[in-house]
Amino acid sequence: MDRKIKALVVKLAEVCWNGGTLDGGELQEMLVEAGVLIDVVVNEPCGERCRCSEYYGVAPPWVCYRLVTTRRPKPHQAGPPT
Ligand SMILES: [Zn+2]
Repeated sequence: MDRKIKALVVKLAEVCWNGGTLDGGELQEMLVEAGVLIDVVVNEPCGERCRCSEYYGVAPPWVCYRLVTTRRPKPHQAGPPT
């Protein structure tokens, strides 16, 4: 198992075992740290499903978080989550 993924799993287990909770922002930070998500600065929505502007205010640039499932993380596109 990748060292960063193992560290993420251990942190998640510790939160659960200690009766803690995580909000979406905390989990997102942990996923970026583990390399599961990457953060990309964008100046316009990257696709129909991109909600970057909703989180980061009206004026760009925004940070777009992308799930790393391939060598080149895909921008937010139309259609169901993959
Ligand atoms: Zn986006």
